[in-house]
Amino acid sequence: QVLITDLTMDTGVQELLVKAEQENIETAFQRAKEQEPHCKFGLTGVCCRRCLQGPCRVTFNGNKGVKRGVCGATADQIVARNLLSLIVEGTTPHVEHAREILHTLLEAAEGKAPYEIKGKEKLISIAKKLGLTVDGVELDKLAQEVALIALQDFQQQSGVSHWLRLRAQDKSIETWEKLNILPSNAHLEIANAINKTAMGCESDPVSLLLGIMKMGLVEGYDGLHLSTDLQDILFGTPRLVKTQYRMGVIKEDYVNIAVHGHIPMVSEKVLEWSRKLNNEAKALGAKGINIVGICCSANELLMRQGVSVATNYASQELAIITGALEAMVVDAQCIMPGLAQVADCYHTELISTLPNIKIEGASHVDWTPEEADKMGEEIVRRALAHYPERDQSKVKIPAGTVEAYAGFSVEQIVELLATLNGADPLLPLIEAIAKGDILGVVAIVGCTNPKVKQDWANTEVAKELMRNNVLIVASGCSAHSLGKNGLLSPAGLQYCGEKLANVLTAIGQANGLPALPPALHMGSCVDNSRIDDLLVALADRLGVAVRELPVAGSSPENHSPKALSIGTFFIAQGVDVHIGVNAPITGSPLVEQALTANKGEFPVTTDELFGGKLIYEADPIQAAQTMIARIIQKRKALGLVC
Ligand code: SF4
Repeated sequence: QVLITDLTMDTGVQELLVKAEQENIETAFQRAKEQEPHCKFGLTGVCCRRCLQGPCRVTFNGNKGVKRGVCGATADQIVARNLLSLIVEGTTPHVEHAREILHTLLEAAEGKAPYEIKGKEKLISIAKKLGLTVDGVELDKLAQEVALIALQDFQQQSGVSHWLRLRAQDKSIETWEKLNILPSNAHLEIANAINKTAMGCESDPVSLLLGIMKMGLVEGYDGLHLSTDLQDILFGTPRLVKTQYRMGVIKEDYVNIAVHGHIPMVSEKVLEWSRKLNNEAKALGAKGINIVGICCSANELLMRQGVSVATNYASQELAIITGALEAMVVDAQCIMPGLAQVADCYHTELISTLPNIKIEGASHVDWTPEEADKMGEEIVRRALAHYPERDQSKVKIPAGTVEAYAGFSVEQIVELLATLNGADPLLPLIEAIAKGDILGVVAIVGCTNPKVKQDWANTEVAKELMRNNVLIVASGCSAHSLGKNGLLSPAGLQYCGEKLANVLTAIGQANGLPALPPALHMGSCVDNSRIDDLLVALADRLGVAVRELPVAGSSPENHSPKALSIGTFFIAQGVDVHIGVNAPITGSPLVEQALTANKGEFPVTTDELFGGKLIYEADPIQAAQTMIARIIQKRKALGLVC
């Protein structure tokens, strides 16, 4: 018998799981249990389905059994090929995300799409870094020029990605150049990677591993950085905002619309039209229209507009089970197909929006840059029409919300620090790190995964690090875990070591706050670019390479291939990356040793080549301690107090 309290820490989700059970509605939590025990060949990565001679399953970890597939492929070759495929699957949605924002910006600049360019400062700063003339140039013209340079990263047949040159540290570029893994064109690199993994193509595991690292750079620059930069140009750079977390943000007396997915061009328009049509909700007897967020659509609207967050990945279906959502609007990534089945049990309309991403059982309203207003209005009007259909006997919204702060872009962090030292804003942070008041910085990022008690590993890793004076920066659904549990609020300082608490209080009070929260929410999954920007800024200010910094990344409840591709990007930067749910690599001693630097026969590791490695550890306390040990090792190498 599985206890609901073992499935999630979120008491609101627990309440809704009871309701789901009573109403006989299936959720991901239940389906995850039905899949146990998982296939060991799949878990260890040694199942190959690349051709019709198979599928082939070979022995893992030196166990007895078949050593090669029909074509002769070994466990090392099969695991390396499968991992590259998985990393491509993680990278591609972010590259598509970047391409979509690029076209939206271009069309907005050309007057063809109804979006206003709100991030003038970001536009000018990026245009200058790209070497464009900015003085006397109209904003729209400048945005067009920036977008056209970005477009080259999807078109050029040679050369190095413009966004990599724009954002990477020179020291890192040198390392990647020597290894011949500098990417040129995101689409070309994805095609090359798929070509490598195709049946009968590349079988050298070392070359496949370098292909994986190259794909990590595609993810980092033409996925994450490009998306964030262009979104900041179009929608503005986030600034400090205060918001609320948990299912209680869904309001019984409002027309409720949940935005779920990742693409702010969709969610921003839904929000805009909800404001325009708010009075129509009042005419229906509601108090207004309430927009709530799920996953990274939540993060995008939270960071720039302070919109409240209902829940994160694993419990997305439960938001519908409140019975109080008139519509759930989805775009791309992390959308469970199971949502349609749940929505069918209520009056909720599940609406997909991207022309090339349709969801079985959902209705569809097409988003295109030019037709964005039409989409926003249509979706909000459909939600209004569903309000009278709501069955009040089915409504149950778990009470209670938690206060949280977000909006910590690098620009905002620098602005906060500037109140302590206007001439050299990063200096107070660097001094705190040098003295050991801040032992190091760890990014808690990624997902929730029904294989792990929801929010538990994310919060436990964070709390153990905070206790040891490690500053947390957060993004994605992991940030939601921290938000739901009070770690994005100054009240979370109770979990910090004294030295860290003093630093956060001093910075907060210099800015009119009781303190900064112990975890700084830096945004959506693509906004892991902001974390990278912060690392590059710190390393540049110190005159060292990113790989030398006392920092690490952690994704304690990872589920998505995106977590692996983002992790690969940070390993390429020289940052250790912890995952709490293992990647399918343990079937190959070579791949496992190369990525984790565990002792073995294979001599070359990512740790040696890049300065970062993969850490798998399911126990959150042990994971935190492993990262702390590494942070101390890097501090010693820099000659810092330990
Ligand atoms: Fe089997 Fe080789 Fe075909 Fe994979 S590519 S399914 S190992 S024969």
